[in-house]
Amino acid sequence: MSVYDPLGLLAPLLLPGKIILQDLCITSAAWDDPLPDILQDRWNRWKTYILQLERVSIDRCYKPKDFGEVKNVELRHFCDASNLGYGHCTYLRMTNGRGEVHCTLVLGKSRVSPIKTVTVPRLELTAAVLSVKMSAFLQAELDLKIGREVFWTDSRVVLGYIKNETRRYHVFVANRVRQIRDESSPNQWRHVSTQDNPADAPSRGLTFDQLEASKWFMGPDFIWEREILEETEEEATVIPKDLGLKSNTHASVKEVDELELGRFDHLSSWYRAKRAVAYCLRLKSYLQRCCHARRDGKDVKKVVMEPLTTELLLHAEKEIIRLIQRRTFDEVKSSGISKSHNERERRRHCKETSRLCRLDPFIDDDGILRVGGHLRRSDLSFESKNPAILPQIHLTKLIVSQCHTEVAHGGRGMTTNRLRAKGYWILGSSNFISKFISQCVVCRRLRQPPQIQKMADLPEDRLSPAPLFTYAGVDCFGLWLIKEGRKELKRYGMIFTCMASRGIHIEVLHSLSTDSFTNGLRRFFLSKAL
Ligand SMILES: [Zn+2]
Repeated sequence: MSVYDPLGLLAPLLLPGKIILQDLCITSAAWDDPLPDILQDRWNRWKTYILQLERVSIDRCYKPKDFGEVKNVELRHFCDASNLGYGHCTYLRMTNGRGEVHCTLVLGKSRVSPIKTVTVPRLELTAAVLSVKMSAFLQAELDLKIGREVFWTDSRVVLGYIKNETRRYHVFVANRVRQIRDESSPNQWRHVSTQDNPADAPSRGLTFDQLEASKWFMGPDFIWEREILEETEEEATVIPKDLGLKSNTHASVKEVDELELGRFDHLSSWYRAKRAVAYCLRLKSYLQRCCHARRDGKDVKKVVMEPLTTELLLHAEKEIIRLIQRRTFDEVKSSGISKSHNERERRRHCKETSRLCRLDPFIDDDGILRVGGHLRRSDLSFESKNPAILPQIHLTKLIVSQCHTEVAHGGRGMTTNRLRAKGYWILGSSNFISKFISQCVVCRRLRQPPQIQKMADLPEDRLSPAPLFTYAGVDCFGLWLIKEGRKELKRYGMIFTCMASRGIHIEVLHSLSTDSFTNGLRRFFLSKAL
């Protein structure tokens, strides 16, 4: 059920037992199933090691007899990993007044590697974390004044991770490296060859005979030597590709530098676009002020984020227009159009074939491409005299939408005038604006002609040929005032129409009473019967 070995002194021997248990878990056997044959063999063999343990005896005291007064106590940690598991061991190294050295095993650990496949360098790193944890544990538990501590690993990759100052790692590696650097300093870490690494035993497991023959309880020879040779050569800190170096750390910073126009495509209004950019500009200026404050040694917490002002929105608008022009006009990209106001010079730079040539364009002090024109002497504002040139893209549509709403959904002319007054010149504007207005929901509703209801099919009586007045419709109309002698009387008309031929017959009614109507109808029937 369990093994009582709190200090892990038998870690190398216990690992095979733990591996048997792990293999059993993988087969997902029930608790009372018999062991499979392969495991049964391994289990029997391992049981014999346990029985042989009777022959092992370990001194309780770290210090041998006649050692004298201990001058110096140091700890030596080793870690290692293999495909089977990873392990750690710590030796206590004591020096007496005569300079003699004695080393004893104080702690061992062995753990099986996780069922989920993990690369060996990552297991080595996990073993190194185990080492620093055990170091902290021993410092707290041992009633001795501990001097120097040294950590050894046979993995150059782990040393590379620990000693590296500049690179950034993926989460798994970064977390473990941080833990190691919190508990130990990189110059405490050394490289040891695999043959000399005692932690190789708890990471692979040993048979009883191998354990007896090994130097597990004493530690490797080199820690018994009087002085540990300081490693002068710089460790080769190679980091292979596998392992979690973030490759794109600088690229991500670069990408932000240039904003993609596509990012604005999901915005529905010009104001929102301006506000989005204004927020970015505000953050940029805040971060810059933080950097300056830190450089000047001021308190960064005192730097405050400024509110979103109209100036900031105007600044954002200019930024967006500059971005649009840089992205869409090759003339701006190549700086073919001079900033100069000298007309001749400008003409020379702008190619005859360019679609902008007729606009006599120039770049103003803010870096915005504007129409030259011949209104220079007028009293209009600078923006109206020299509007900024815009292509036909989504952002331009947002500007048109804004101006169109401002003129209360006026027609193309009004919208164009508004655009000019605000300082925008859209290439091919008349088609662009017409198309925009034709798609504007409000305009469509207001300008649509009223709809006429569709007539139903004519009845059969009106369509089939028949003798005159076979089918007739009747209605009354009037009134007319007539004179009879000196009296004025009301008279009404009664009209019969033939359904097929549209011929008419009119009778006079004396009043709108039923009698008058019946008399009229009779007169009609009689006239037709005759
Ligand atoms: Zn409209």
